[in-house]
Amino acid sequence: MRLIVYNRAVRALFPLLLCVAASAHAATVAIDVGHFIEEPGATSARGRPELDFNRDLAVEIESAARRDGLKTMLIGYDGFMSELTRRTAAAAAADFLLSVHHDSVQPHFLESWEFDRVERAFSDRYSGFSLFVSRKNRSLTRSLACASAIGEALRGAGFSPSLYHADPIPGENKPFADRRNGVHYYDNLIVLKTARTPAVLLEAGVIVNRDEELRVQSEEVRRRIAASVADGLRRCL
Ligand SMILES: [Zn+2]
Repeated sequence: MRLIVYNRAVRALFPLLLCVAASAHAATVAIDVGHFIEEPGATSARGRPELDFNRDLAVEIESAARRDGLKTMLIGYDGFMSELTRRTAAAAAADFLLSVHHDSVQPHFLESWEFDRVERAFSDRYSGFSLFVSRKNRSLTRSLACASAIGEALRGAGFSPSLYHADPIPGENKPFADRRNGVHYYDNLIVLKTARTPAVLLEAGVIVNRDEELRVQSEEVRRRIAASVADGLRRCL
């Protein structure tokens, strides 16, 4: 009798035990919200700070990654983390660091237009995502493998790499690490080179581009970007 009760208990617990075992092996991704309130990054064509775009997407990536069985930690969401090295220190216990950003262009490409009676800067010249890794990161191979996997997943979901960061002009000149998947080397990016884990910086889209700004704010597009990023991470971690 006692044995039967024991067996039943084990059988009932078995799915739970499996679940615990699976989560014990799940990789932890630190998702860094690029920028902070005092320096909120780029300004979109309609005047929205990059920080707000980064927050929305980081949260979406966090949900998608959890759905895919990864563990997550969100860094810098409150907008008060002004010291970049505090971000990498906070991520030290994770297996991977993803820094989430949205892109601008070199100042000389900007034009002006009026939106809501305010003059704003924009450029419709470029669009698309880009990914960066640093050759000064101690886990370059893993960083690059994940950047390529994320780029591949984004391309598979219909997004295109922006490619302009490799242009031989001042401010760009970021050589390709994987052109097909939109990955560049950017060796001195603090968050990448001081990370104690493999690390990738994602520029999800160009928010000074008037169409792309609207696209990346649509919930459907943001979900698709997040699902692709999570898919890439799951494949490489
Ligand atoms: Zn940024």
